[in-house]
Amino acid sequence: MSDAKSAVIFALPLDKKKIRSFLSKELPNGKIDHELDNIQVNVNAYKMAKDVAQILKKEGYNSEVIFPNFKYRTDVEGWQMKMYPELALRYLAARAGVGSIGWSGNIGIKGYGTTVILGGLVTSAELKPTDPIPSNESFCIQCKLCTKVCAFGMFSNEHSEEITLGGHKFSYAKRINVMRCQIVCGGLSGLDKTKKWSTWSPGRFPYPETEDQVRRIFSYALLKTPKRPSGTNYNNNFDVSQLDDDVRVTDLNTGEDLSKVMLKGVNLTCGNCQLICWGDLKETKRNYDILTSSGCVIEHPDGNIEILRSDQAKTQFNEFPSKHKQLYYKEF
Ligand code: SF4
Ligand code: SF4
Repeated sequence: MSDAKSAVIFALPLDKKKIRSFLSKELPNGKIDHELDNIQVNVNAYKMAKDVAQILKKEGYNSEVIFPNFKYRTDVEGWQMKMYPELALRYLAARAGVGSIGWSGNIGIKGYGTTVILGGLVTSAELKPTDPIPSNESFCIQCKLCTKVCAFGMFSNEHSEEITLGGHKFSYAKRINVMRCQIVCGGLSGLDKTKKWSTWSPGRFPYPETEDQVRRIFSYALLKTPKRPSGTNYNNNFDVSQLDDDVRVTDLNTGEDLSKVMLKGVNLTCGNCQLICWGDLKETKRNYDILTSSGCVIEHPDGNIEILRSDQAKTQFNEFPSKHKQLYYKEF
């Protein structure tokens, strides 16, 4: 929006009880319950932003809702891989003092952590800006547990990068290679470097030590993952028709039903760096313990999944026919 002068940004909480069930990989509903909550909160954020935009429009100001997910800057070369959002809500949230950027790069709020969903809009109205939260009042205590729950180590444990927004500097962990997140958060693989636990993804590719291995795993797994079977003992295939009418979302300007765009291919298998951090070291540590003792997912040839201790998962996986194993594992 070329005449944008201000942004209105806010954060809504996710359901922490459902996050615990997700982190502990509870069957049958630990995954779908958090997915539905995550979708509902995203939809609520979109609707709240739409309401504010409509009020501003009535006052004569141009206003556009910032789409929270799945909408990328297609003008950027290689956008399919880079996946830059049309506007980074987290940057705006940090600059506006909605929350602080934590080591993981997620926005967090003191006493609550990073388990929030951001929403917002831009407008031609010149609103009074709010200040960022001073760094000494950040929720982030640099415990670095977020780095330990990223199965493919997408971000650094020691090095940071810095950005400047509206004259203020912000820093967070250096990104080693976002493709590492695309593999894990994209559900292609989930086995942690320690091989002791996994995300909800049944992919078992060994931890890539080099970025060349990352690229090779990505290309291979992208072809194999769609061939994986789909089982019935958990819901891994979100269907828009499951939603109530009140979570339908229409575009402010075109009236187009955006539900399908927002929900397309929803399959949340990770998000650990965001979900683990609750703004209280004791609770965050508990989340870390829950996740790292939750075992490993394996997917049987009939598509049903099982959560097993890491040694049992390895034994069971090795007994599968090699054609089935190829969908989840290959040495590079
Ligand atoms: S887990 Fe939270 S508090 Fe700890 S370093 Fe990461 S973002 Fe900061
Ligand atoms: S979402 Fe998962 S894979 Fe992506 S950076 Fe966070 S922990 Fe790593």
